Amino acid sequence: MEHYPLYAVHPLHSVFPEPEDLSPAQRRWILVQNTSVVFRDEPAPGTVVMGDLLPEGLASGAPVYLGTDNDLCYYAAEVASGATLPPGWETSPVRELHGVVPDRDMAYAAYAIRILDFDRSNTFCGKCGANTRPSTTERARICTSCSRIVYPRVSPAIIVLLKKGEKVLLARSPRFTPGVYSILAGFNEPGENLEQTVHREVGEEVGIAVKNIRYFGSEPWPFPDSLMIGFVADYDSGEIRIDPREIEEASWFSRENLPPFPSKTSISWALIEAWRRGEV
Ligand SMILES: [Zn+2]
Repeated sequence: MEHYPLYAVHPLHSVFPEPEDLSPAQRRWILVQNTSVVFRDEPAPGTVVMGDLLPEGLASGAPVYLGTDNDLCYYAAEVASGATLPPGWETSPVRELHGVVPDRDMAYAAYAIRILDFDRSNTFCGKCGANTRPSTTERARICTSCSRIVYPRVSPAIIVLLKKGEKVLLARSPRFTPGVYSILAGFNEPGENLEQTVHREVGEEVGIAVKNIRYFGSEPWPFPDSLMIGFVADYDSGEIRIDPREIEEASWFSRENLPPFPSKTSISWALIEAWRRGEV
């Protein structure tokens, strides 16, 4: 299977309880400003800041423990809006750092933004309104009054490469960059298994029935909290009939006339590329 660089990296190991008595040299920081991450160009492009290089006072608010990797402990911390960054440090949306920083730094940065957002969005219990505290045994927050446990949300979504003979179905959403096509995708709904989601989404978006659904691979897509589950399926019946609320154009493409498709960070690229090479 083709790898897809952004999330080929294993996430940090969230070892609990959180390690204690670490020296600054054992700590690593990922600094987040709103939904962007701090990165630097020197000595090499990266988003991970060594503990002893963290400028005093730059991190605002309590740091959030992320996990460990090779005896190093990683934390996310917020940088206040308007804070002055050291020379050569900038902020950037994570997705724009693909190919700029190592894949590992990009994956860790996306994870840091995700976990900080989880922490900040769940300081109060959604059931009784009392304060929550971080769990000491797992990635969760616990209500200090009713003991309700909240976990980071993961929203499963299918993405499917639909084959018809030597052609593949690609579609354009009005939200896409002009000229770019992709394969169909959609969120799983409560009560559905993933195969049912594939049947429903393809039916709704392009009016086609599919068969022979098989699993390809999956990719966490933390913008903000999806897990993309990739499938390949064969055309069964029907003519393309698009849902104009979701799709502005869809058609069958051969390998020779493929339009531009998404960047290499995504599983949609990996699926289309695997098909182009005859692997699926
Ligand atoms: Zn509660």
